[in-house]
Amino acid sequence: MSVQKIVILGGGESGVGAALLAQAKGFGVFLSDKGALKESYRTALQTAQIPFEEGKHTEELILDATEVIKSPGIPETAPLVQKLRAQGTPVISEIEFAARYTRAKLIGITGSNGKTTTTLLTYHLLKTAGFNVGLAGNIGDSFAEQVITDRFDYFVLELSSFQLDDMYNTHLDVMVLLNITPDHLDRYGYNFQNYVDSKFRILQNARPEDDFIFFAESQPILNEFAKRHPDVNRLPVSLQKAVSPGGYLENGQLISATKNTSFTIAQADTPLRGPHNAINMLSAMLAAQSVGVSNEALTQGLKTFQNAAHRLEPAGTIHGVQFINDSKATNVDSVFYALSSMDAPTVWIAGGLDKGNDYSQLDELVKQRVKALICLGIDNHKLIDYFGSKLPTIYETQSVTDAVAKGLELAQPGEVVLLSPACASFDLFKNYEDRGNQFKAAVQKLL
Ligand code: ADP
Repeated sequence: MSVQKIVILGGGESGVGAALLAQAKGFGVFLSDKGALKESYRTALQTAQIPFEEGKHTEELILDATEVIKSPGIPETAPLVQKLRAQGTPVISEIEFAARYTRAKLIGITGSNGKTTTTLLTYHLLKTAGFNVGLAGNIGDSFAEQVITDRFDYFVLELSSFQLDDMYNTHLDVMVLLNITPDHLDRYGYNFQNYVDSKFRILQNARPEDDFIFFAESQPILNEFAKRHPDVNRLPVSLQKAVSPGGYLENGQLISATKNTSFTIAQADTPLRGPHNAINMLSAMLAAQSVGVSNEALTQGLKTFQNAAHRLEPAGTIHGVQFINDSKATNVDSVFYALSSMDAPTVWIAGGLDKGNDYSQLDELVKQRVKALICLGIDNHKLIDYFGSKLPTIYETQSVTDAVAKGLELAQPGEVVLLSPACASFDLFKNYEDRGNQFKAAVQKLL
């Protein structure tokens, strides 16, 4: 029998990890990337003697594959992917491939917003409890590379919709769906239902005994339940009513219960502010309870958690004015939660590349909490058109240093300057990290 040929499209973290795993499992491997590889990835492939190409896709080599592992960055509409589909070659994600080679229990986390926070927290809770746990998916080191030695008993996986799209048989023991709000519609034919279907793929191999944790006030999730009736153990998370089993917020207390466990902590005793983080924490708590993390470890883990940067990250206080970096808020829904978390009058810095934003969801919060808007983008007309008549002060700039200085001028002691852009960053910055880092540096200069 001839050796199976695995072709990997895309030589980033997941692609290179998949190549290493495929080689370790004895497949013929070829990696192809249309762009340039990072030096470290090129070296990793050379050291492992894995054949690869960069700057092009050689079709005859790729179409000869038995199976293709595709980077989540490559859209389904790419001509090469279409050709592979047309000839019936299976195209899968790195997650699907790696999951075949691990015995670990898998906790999968998806949603339009809050994935990274919830994934990192769930991982931290299991780790604090002494579990032998790995972290992978849309975050950190490649899942595939980590399963070469298959040394973990659990993995917490952050799953984007693009990864879910190329997953078919992977069984997740615990599934979390945080919310579904419009995002990435350009990849889903501008059809929201396609995006909802993609998120619901997290449930495709669920068994009745598996736990499914979801936000019960996300209307698109409820609409789908009405259509699909998935046979799985449901653990809802609510900000509005007591649910048990499930998780909810009541008088500042986070309360979570599975069939056999129940746990309570005051949100004030945790480092994460705001209603969105109550959802994230309740989801992570339930996921941890579902695999047997003790109440002591939950308390300890929740108190010691440090979130990733750029998510409502304190950036410094100058003359009593607090600066907050929420550069990761690249859509309107995340700004909704950022503003909901503010308890002082706020100078709001927003703008960048608009992904078809509808700002009406923010009307009430902006009226209550925002005293001025600073537009930080190349084309600010949408923000100005929408908020021009609603706010007394709107200022426009293309310089983050200027935005910070203006924020300091407009805010009084005890007030807040919040960078929560609602837009992508690529007009003025390399990415959202670059935007957040420049913001923090500009604040530091004034300290
Ligand atoms: P993701 O990985 O899904 O992008 P993050 O945890 O990185 O999510 O958070 C991204 C942004 O989304 C944060 O800046 C925050 O303002 C917002 N956010 C976080 N959690 C939620 C949630 N549960 N619902 C809505 N918005 C959220």
